[in-house]
Amino acid sequence: MQIEITDVFLRDGLQDVDVVVPTAEKLETAARLIAAGVRRLEVASFVNPKKVPQMADAEAVFAGLAVRENVAYTSLALNGRGIQRAVDAGAEHIAVVTSASQAHSNANAGQSIEEALAGLGEVVARFPGTDFFAGVSTAFTCPFEGEIAPEHLLRVVRAFKAMGITTIGLADTLGTTSTERAIAAVGYVLDAEPDLDYSLHLHNAHGQALATVSAAISLGITRFDSALGGYGGCPFAPGAAGNLATEELVRHLHAAGHDTGIDEAQLAEAVAFARGSVTRAPALSSFSASH
Ligand code: ZN
Repeated sequence: MQIEITDVFLRDGLQDVDVVVPTAEKLETAARLIAAGVRRLEVASFVNPKKVPQMADAEAVFAGLAVRENVAYTSLALNGRGIQRAVDAGAEHIAVVTSASQAHSNANAGQSIEEALAGLGEVVARFPGTDFFAGVSTAFTCPFEGEIAPEHLLRVVRAFKAMGITTIGLADTLGTTSTERAIAAVGYVLDAEPDLDYSLHLHNAHGQALATVSAAISLGITRFDSALGGYGGCPFAPGAAGNLATEELVRHLHAAGHDTGIDEAQLAEAVAFARGSVTRAPALSSFSASH
């Protein structure tokens, strides 16, 4: 099976480290991921730079990325202001994100799910030329509310479908959801809305993410997010574990006979560079103090 991996290190990974990696180092990591064969990279989020200083250079990142015909750079926005910034920066593939959990939505986006969805619907309609896809964070488990009912998840998915969005990423933001429960929820949504394209975004608190990937592939899911080095978390989801590591995912998929288009040795070099960039980077505290 051909599996498409989106590496989210530059966004999900770097938003949760306590350093600010310089733009040039982010761009070098992107170049190395592309050299390894990664064709879809989430490179920035257009969120409040005061809340997430690690992403304050989102515009500069987009300005510095090499345009490659077969490479998609994605970014993330939580509201109209973020989407406008992303479009102005030249972003073509924008993830609009809401939480399946009311409490996480309030913490992460400062508004309820319904407010977030209504706002996104209006703004998405204003940019017909943009490739929007949706991310549903805390799709299965919320740090504040516990288990998310699949029926509730489906309502959020259908709200995005109503906006004309047909690609939906389901995120286990905490990384604690068991394979059984994740797959039950994915299967429920898939049965109810079989014509949408789904991807899974798994964090990996208990080492169960690879089992979930395998089970999801048997349901027909072929798109997964992961972050090089297993970096990541969520600043607004206490206890969120790191992402499923891209190198682990690639090794697992190749061992199972799937094709990712990614070279493991070159990927290892990208991982080494990225780890170095985090090690070298100035502390978040020093960066915040200068703003
Ligand atoms: Zn994540």
